[in-house]
Amino acid sequence: MSSDAPVLKLYNTLTRAKEEFRPLDPANVRMYVCGPTVYDHAHIGNARPLIVFDVLFRLLRHLYGADHVTYVRNITDVDDKINARAAERGISIRELTEQTNAIFQQDVRALGCLEPSVQPRATEHIAEMIAIIEKLIAAGHAYAADGHVLFDVPSMADYGRLSRRPLDEMIAGARVDVAPYKRGDMDFVLWKPSKEGEPGWDSPWGRGRPGWHLECSAMSWKHLGEVFDIHGGGVDLVFPHHENEIAQTRCAFGHEVMANYWMHNGFLQVEGKKMSKSLGNFVTIHELLKDWPGDVLRLNMLRTHYRQPINWTREGLEQSDSFLDKWRSEADGVAPTTVSSDVIAALTDDLNTPLAISHLHRISDPGVRKASLLLMGINVESKDTTRRRTIEAAVVEQLIATRLAARAAKNWAESDRIRDELAAMGVALKDNKDGTTTWEVRR
Ligand code: AMP
Ligand code: ZN
Repeated sequence: MSSDAPVLKLYNTLTRAKEEFRPLDPANVRMYVCGPTVYDHAHIGNARPLIVFDVLFRLLRHLYGADHVTYVRNITDVDDKINARAAERGISIRELTEQTNAIFQQDVRALGCLEPSVQPRATEHIAEMIAIIEKLIAAGHAYAADGHVLFDVPSMADYGRLSRRPLDEMIAGARVDVAPYKRGDMDFVLWKPSKEGEPGWDSPWGRGRPGWHLECSAMSWKHLGEVFDIHGGGVDLVFPHHENEIAQTRCAFGHEVMANYWMHNGFLQVEGKKMSKSLGNFVTIHELLKDWPGDVLRLNMLRTHYRQPINWTREGLEQSDSFLDKWRSEADGVAPTTVSSDVIAALTDDLNTPLAISHLHRISDPGVRKASLLLMGINVESKDTTRRRTIEAAVVEQLIATRLAARAAKNWAESDRIRDELAAMGVALKDNKDGTTTWEVRR
């Protein structure tokens, strides 16, 4: 970064202060963000960290150079929710995670997010997880009991530094899962035994599978090292997930921190209410993309500062849509020039996207506006203002393969479910006599 470059300031949950960002190595700025558990379509709340940290990724690339930023966002493909859902639908775990991930990738692309540098899968990092557990046991921070391995919370003097919760609150939270093999109330699972039919891997403690927190410690270590710059996720992850990631990584490798800057996005509510299946206001990205172009969803998300709660409303979406309409109509034949310095100043001040957007309204040069929008991942060039997403052949093929497997297993409910899902995307299937399925797009 040259000396007259703007200073990036980020709010750090670890210190509860806005700080100047100083990367460990400006030639390789490293960021980890907790990614999805691939058992079901991601909802619009899940889209918030995807979009927010994509803006940060773009800004870091702008400041440090596109080749000098490594962004890791994991895919959690081993989890009890996955096992339960696969059993419910009568398909294999692999089929469920492949299918869910294919749709997830399509959704995030439609939201204008760049592909992270690495998208590691938990199931491909079992060796690293076992290595971390062995280090923790050797250092006296973990113990094996009854086929489980647990992290020994009292062995870490400054456990709880990120969430700063009072001890009794943490104990009360952890008591939710009481278990006879736990020495301390707050001890948490690193490894647990797998029953027959559950996914499992051989380990020194028997056939089993990792605890959720351990997955992120293993994947961030493998791809970013023992200490890195930024760790992000939604505010709900501060405790226990991030607190426990920190405990594992710091105690395994003996550093003062796991990451220097911890960033958390606020929560999203729909029409003023907490999103929930029972309230019937649970909206997936997938569903929203049928009605709105991805850019509208993205702009709408960025009109609220990432640390504030966001109230997701139809009215907001309509406004965002009209802003974009205006910018698109002037963008014809205009080449993007330079990013507005006001926009850079807003974004480098802890990602103040609402301020950046208010500047966008005032910019008089359409080339500057276009370049500034592009920095925020909004492409006004896109002629696809029809409220229809593009259909990706790879996703369709993946769904068809899963459907064929379901049919081979005489799982007609699943086969119909996939046909309906494709129909909703505008894809019609034709089952041929030779057992193959062909498809076409119907709009
Ligand atoms: P999950 O699949 O629940 O682990 O969530 C994946 C990511 O989405 C995490 O970073 C969560 O913090 C985030 N997240 C989940 N629900 C919401 C919400 N309603 N608003 C904002 N972020 C959310
Ligand atoms: Zn994580």
